[in-house]
Parts: sequence; C-alpha cells; structure tokens
Amino acid sequence: MRLILLGPPGAGKGTQAKRLMDRYGIAQISTGDMLRAEAAAGSEVGREAKAVMEAGKLVSDDILIRMLGGRIGQADCAKGFILDGFPRTEAQAVALDGMLEQKAIKLDAVVELRVNNSALVDRIAGRYTCAACGVGYHDAFQKPKRAGVCDACGGETFTRRADDNRETVAARLVVYHDQTAPLLPYYQAQGLLGGVNGMAEIDGVTVELFALLDKVA
Ligand code: ADP
Ligand code: ADP
Ligand code: ZN
Repeated sequence: MRLILLGPPGAGKGTQAKRLMDRYGIAQISTGDMLRAEAAAGSEVGREAKAVMEAGKLVSDDILIRMLGGRIGQADCAKGFILDGFPRTEAQAVALDGMLEQKAIKLDAVVELRVNNSALVDRIAGRYTCAACGVGYHDAFQKPKRAGVCDACGGETFTRRADDNRETVAARLVVYHDQTAPLLPYYQAQGLLGGVNGMAEIDGVTVELFALLDKVA
C-alpha cells in the first residue's frame, strides 16, 4: 500500500503513520525526520535546511525531490510506504507522480487529517520526543505511563524541536495553507483523496484511518 498523509503541522501525521506502519507492514517516510537527521549530522544539505526549518519555511523542492527519490527505492519500501510531510508543494507532487510512473507503481490513497488551527498550536507547543527511540509524546495529550520514562524503550531523555514554538508555528501554518493545501484538489481530481476527523482523540483517529484504509489494502 502506498499512501500520502496530508495535514498541517501538528495534525498527527507522525503519530498515526507509526500505527499504519505496524498494521500494514509498510515504511514511514518522514521528510522532516530525514532533514533533522541531515542537520544533526552537519551535512551540506543539513546545514542549508536547518535555518530554513527554524524559520518555519520550506526547504527547496530540489533537495526534497532528490531526497525522496533515493528513499522510495530502498528495500523497506518494497511493500509500500506512508509519506509523512511530502509532498508539500505542487512541484513536489508533480515530481512524485513522475517518479512513481517511472517505477510503474501507483498511489493507493491520499488521506487528509483535518484539524483546526487553534488545536494545532496547542499540539505543537506541547510536543516532545524520546531522544533514544524517537517515539512522540505530548505534555497534556499523550503522556508516558511513568513520568519522565519512555513507554517504548525506557529512555529518560527527551527532546523538543527548535521550530516547535508558538511564533514559528504561525509561519508554518501560513505556508501550509498557501503551498500545501492546494494539493487537496490536486489529489481529489485524481480520485485518490479521503479524509478523517483529526480533532478526535488519538485512538479515535486511528480507528477511523484503519476503517478507511482496510478497504484499500
Ligand atoms: P505531525 O506529524 O502532523 O506534525 P504529530 O504526530 O507529531 O503531528 O503530533 C503533534 C503532537 O500532538 C504530538 O505531541 C502528539 O502526541 C499530539 N497528538 C497527535 N494526535 C493527536 C490527537 N488526535 N489529539 C491530541 N493530541 C495529538
Ligand atoms: P510538521 O509536520 O510539524 O510540519 P515536519 O517534521 O514534517 O513537521 O517538517 C519540519 C520542517 O521540515 C518543515 O517546516 C520544513 O521546513 C521542512 N520540510 C519537511 N518536509 C518538507 C518538504 N516536503 N518540503 C519542504 N520542506 C520540508
Ligand atoms: Zn523511547
């Protein structure tokens, strides 16, 4: 199964992608995670991306298209993948269509996670991640069972993203509405678009996603 999860920053794409990965045995491809890994490694791409990300803007289409092209050819994508954070512009969507056509593969679905702006700001402001295993948490909405200890790996060190502050969020939401939201009609026209109510609690969103995607799988 090959999917795109579309939705604004903080909508729950990463949280839900991990669950879809387990259910359908497909790879999660988060371009944000890939860029943060490049930045942490101090590569040329990473150095260029870091400042752009911290300003809440989009990293160039060229970089992203090259990065994704390499990633979807890897072995763990053979059974399928969930794109989380890509495409974000029409140029990226068109490039993706070209790459898939070349590999003679097709997208099965594009799912929009619909969430109000006010909820997004709260979700992003409270987001943090286990430094050891990358599992995501939230100060109010998704606490670890034991305070300060990761449920998944027992790790006790957590990180917050430099771009997850209220000021940068506003810029990221504007970018989403200007550059990424136009992809909704793009995929609607291809007959691929579905949507779920991302305002529900995390488990409720998962139930709705599974119901939608079990029909596709
Ligand atoms: P995205 O990948 O779309 O940016 P995340 O999956 O990282 O979003 O979720 C953003 C934050 O909101 C995380 O801290 C996560 O724990 C929390 N979260 C995700 N889904 C929900 C939900 N349905 N209700 C409340 N909080 C959520
Ligand atoms: P979120 O889902 O919270 O917006 P991501 O982790 O997907 O966060 O992305 C973080 C940042 O990485 C974006 O604000 C942007 O600067 C950069 N980025 C990620 N994916 C792309 C992409 N497809 N095109 C351009 N920039 C991207
Ligand atoms: Zn962990």
